[in-house]
Amino acid sequence: MSRRALALFLVAGVVLAFVPNLRSALDFPIFYLIFLYSLFFWITQATSWNILTGFSGYFSFGQAAFFGVGVYTSAILVARYDVGFFATLPAAGIMATVLAGTIGFLAFRLRALRGEVFALLTLAVTFVLTALAGANSYIDGGQGHRVSVPDYPSFLGSYPDFIYRVGLVMAIASVAIAYSIQHSRFGRGLFAIRDDEDVAEALGTPTLRYKMLVLSLSGFLAGAAGGIHSLQISYITIGETFSFTVPLFVILMSVLGGRNHWLGPVIGATVVYTLRDRLSGAGFEAWSQILLGSILILAIIFAPEGLYPRVRARLRLVILVAVVVLAVESGADVGGASLDQITIAMLVVLPLLLVPDRILRWTGWLRPAVVPVGRKARRAATWDRESLTLRATGQEASVAVGSDAVSAPLLQCDQIRMEFDGLHALQDVDISISAGEIVGLVGPNGSGKSTLINVMSGMFAPTSGSVRFRGVDITGRPPHVISNLGIARTYQIPRPFATMTVFDNVAVACMFRHKGMTLDEAQHAAWEYLEFTGLVDVADTLPSQVNLHQRKFLELARGLASEPEVLMLDEVLSGLNPTEIDESVEMIRRIHASGHTIVIVEHVMRVVTDLASRMVVLNYGRKLAEGTPAEVMNDREVVKAYLGREHA
Ligand code: ADP
Ligand code: MG
Repeated sequence: MSRRALALFLVAGVVLAFVPNLRSALDFPIFYLIFLYSLFFWITQATSWNILTGFSGYFSFGQAAFFGVGVYTSAILVARYDVGFFATLPAAGIMATVLAGTIGFLAFRLRALRGEVFALLTLAVTFVLTALAGANSYIDGGQGHRVSVPDYPSFLGSYPDFIYRVGLVMAIASVAIAYSIQHSRFGRGLFAIRDDEDVAEALGTPTLRYKMLVLSLSGFLAGAAGGIHSLQISYITIGETFSFTVPLFVILMSVLGGRNHWLGPVIGATVVYTLRDRLSGAGFEAWSQILLGSILILAIIFAPEGLYPRVRARLRLVILVAVVVLAVESGADVGGASLDQITIAMLVVLPLLLVPDRILRWTGWLRPAVVPVGRKARRAATWDRESLTLRATGQEASVAVGSDAVSAPLLQCDQIRMEFDGLHALQDVDISISAGEIVGLVGPNGSGKSTLINVMSGMFAPTSGSVRFRGVDITGRPPHVISNLGIARTYQIPRPFATMTVFDNVAVACMFRHKGMTLDEAQHAAWEYLEFTGLVDVADTLPSQVNLHQRKFLELARGLASEPEVLMLDEVLSGLNPTEIDESVEMIRRIHASGHTIVIVEHVMRVVTDLASRMVVLNYGRKLAEGTPAEVMNDREVVKAYLGREHA
């Protein structure tokens, strides 16, 4: 479906490129070209905003800054330095990229800014640029810039034809970029960042690089489109360039159209720009704002995912109604330009898109809801990768199993100390894990077990002490690097990517493991882990719709899909009933037998003593005891710590 949509989109683009040639033949007013150019401009800006905010979740108010830098770069280069117009476009894009990169450096590198703080930063940057442009007469100084008609190849037609065509190419390029991002590993990484950045990082996604990349790309598209737009505005002023209309409109367009999909901003921009332009053109300036505001409110309430999924599910209905309305309009000769007739059809179709599913269901015209991200999971009959770890049996496994095979430590913590605002969560903890072991990590609540897992997986850099993996110091390395080295972990409270299906959750882990996979490969490989953990039946379900047992197993499946050597399980069994616990124990044995070293944090003692070859007991952040399950369970200090807590 998606590929077909892109093909249709590209065909439409090619057809649109020839519209100026048909103008005289069709008696087509030049005003239509200007209208369409503006639509292309907004599609580009909304798409640029959406790959950043819609895909990665970093909310930006900085669209006017990126766009404005592009406008001024082109205008200044043309006016002051006589640079050819086309050469200014990459420059406009690059200047906006530099700005975006600076914002990214400040926000992501210096301080890990998220949420409102990031949004405020982009807003502040816009204010600073506006003030700078006003104060600096080289940039503007309040005078404005007149942009003269540049030289351009004659095959591009008259001046309006030329602007139209350049704008069209820019829009197609932006949308094609959004499409390819969405259908790549990069895009899945961004979705993962949007859903839960820490988990994305822990599964091997290079989150910093991805955020910088998408921010720069978003800036580049906005800046280059700004360069083109300098031709259209012809007289550039600060007030209009760095105006709040730009960020507000791109947000409105993307939210209305749907932020999860490359076509969302295209749909949103088309609806919003057409309605606004036509209603103002008809003298309803104030009404256009009221109407757009109302549509947005209704959309947020009744179609929070945006129009795209609705258009998809109700496509036949939409086309039918639109055709009928247009036919009636031309038959009844209601007058007005055809653009206005299209606007009326749009106003009739919009409510149809907003009404809830249950009202339309009786018509039988609804298609099943779209799988949230990506395509529906499909099982590969032919998939056969020899290296899949889970196929290996105990004998074939790469790591010898059993305590007699224990040799040099695989993972070693030395004198780990972890403090949170004066609270000593871990103090001088030494722990050493050898290949092939199952180490049980136990201790009362708050004794530091999860903190130790966070330190070993790189989520926390310890206050002091070191972590070594295969003898290499990994203290303070980013979690995605540690994940790629071969250490995976699960979360005590499951943290699935909420907007992705169970299947995609696992596929993301396959994509970002060491020697990551392409989207297609991962789509095949993920099945293995779903089958192993018994999640095949819920593959296409959102994590919020499966039970706790399945969410815990999804944690396991994702951990395994990272192809780790050491798998750290943080209370995977808590909250499960006895049958589910027995099932899980069996599964952990199989995971171990296939060559994984396991660290298991667990409260159910019979499980730990049964599974673990060695146990480590933490108490108040210190290591209290260590040894075989029998030794530890008979240790007087351990008994005291547990009994003491129970009586407290
Ligand atoms: P356990 O997993 O053994 O129950 P934790 O490792 O979760 O214990 O917690 C150990 C101590 O560290 C607790 O007192 C907890 O409140 C504190 N702690 C854990 N994580 C943080 C954090 N991110 N910020 C502040 N304190 C924390
Ligand atoms: Mg814990």
